[in-house]
Amino acid sequence: MILTARLVLPISSPPIVDGGLVIRDGTICAVGKAPELIRDFATEPHDDLGNAVLLPGLVNAHTHLELTGLRGRLPLGKSFTEWAIALLDLRSGLDDEFFATSACLGATTLLRSGVTCVADVTTYGSSVAPLKAAGLRGVIFQEILGPNPDQVTERLDAAEKALQSLQLHTRDSLLSVGLAPHAPYSLSEPLLVRCAELLRRLRLPATIHVAESPEEVTYIGLGLGPIATKLLPAVGRHSPSHRVCGESPVALLDRAGLLSDRLLAVHAVHAGMADLQLLKQRGVSLAICPRSNHHLMVGTAPLPRCLAASLRVGLGTDSLGSNDTLSLWDEMRFAHRLYGGAVTAQQLVTMATLGGAAALGMAGIIGSLTPGKRADLTALAIDRVDDADPYASLLDQASDDSVVLSAVDGKILYQREEAMRWNCH
Ligand SMILES: [Zn+2]
Repeated sequence: MILTARLVLPISSPPIVDGGLVIRDGTICAVGKAPELIRDFATEPHDDLGNAVLLPGLVNAHTHLELTGLRGRLPLGKSFTEWAIALLDLRSGLDDEFFATSACLGATTLLRSGVTCVADVTTYGSSVAPLKAAGLRGVIFQEILGPNPDQVTERLDAAEKALQSLQLHTRDSLLSVGLAPHAPYSLSEPLLVRCAELLRRLRLPATIHVAESPEEVTYIGLGLGPIATKLLPAVGRHSPSHRVCGESPVALLDRAGLLSDRLLAVHAVHAGMADLQLLKQRGVSLAICPRSNHHLMVGTAPLPRCLAASLRVGLGTDSLGSNDTLSLWDEMRFAHRLYGGAVTAQQLVTMATLGGAAALGMAGIIGSLTPGKRADLTALAIDRVDDADPYASLLDQASDDSVVLSAVDGKILYQREEAMRWNCH
């Protein structure tokens, strides 16, 4: 099939006005000017997307789709600890049906907004079925928590069983499985160490929230602050279980053996220069979630420094417990304003595509429109494109409503004007 459009953004190479690509068996086999492709591949069926912008499918590098139904139900703009306690409270009253409905809504929303690959953290396993039914690509990370050292064996056994179940249910899909130790403050030090051992033994990818809030830095370094006095007592823990020695959260993870090139660290708002160097040295990748950080008032991630250090950085929305949409277009637009001239529109679009793919270890198969890669792509109807900076035009105007097509592995899974080609039920 030949797909052509007014503008093609391959990401790994310059924009092509009046461009297109050729897809065979789910693989991109050529990218170039539309007239040349139509001439060279004369027998291929041709679909012209008209005045659209065609680019790689977006990669949402951090979600909790089970929590999609929490939009507007948690106190934002107070403090991280208050928000976390409210989340624990609210979550304990929700049932499997809520999580399943939430995850289904989340998966649909992603595809309709141009996301074709996702790094999703699951507590209850509810996101597997809708992501599989949607045909999305991604990694589903099984969450594990446990601040009490006497919970180590029980929590680890449960996580290992949950991983086996996820592996069974993701068979015959584009989804793979990983482990999500929740955060340095919500797992005891012995559990962090055992998670690292499990990950090495099973050779699995992992993701973890780290250096998200000033409260976390105070708790890990000094054993003090609202996490020590409010959050952990709310789950029955009354003293730190980690060695309190002035370490940063990143340094604690390193000592626990968790930093590796299979780890995706989320947030890193309070990662200092030494932390970023350590992350780079260990090959850790990052998912940055600017709007979630803003809503929880935890600070601003050092994105320009991360990019300057050539870390692999993707963009995530986090859950709707701390954000108002799952749109990476909204996320990019917010980040563009937040960082001013320090991060360009092109850098943000690259983060939301190739950067996210690289952060998930998938840059060899997706993330750019490059011959040989799988055909994960999206197209948007944009009125005015400034050829001098098409990326800025895209950020100015793109929204979920502009998305006219999303395809994964060469299959068109969403096309506007048509009914969804899949169903959650
Ligand atoms: Zn999160």
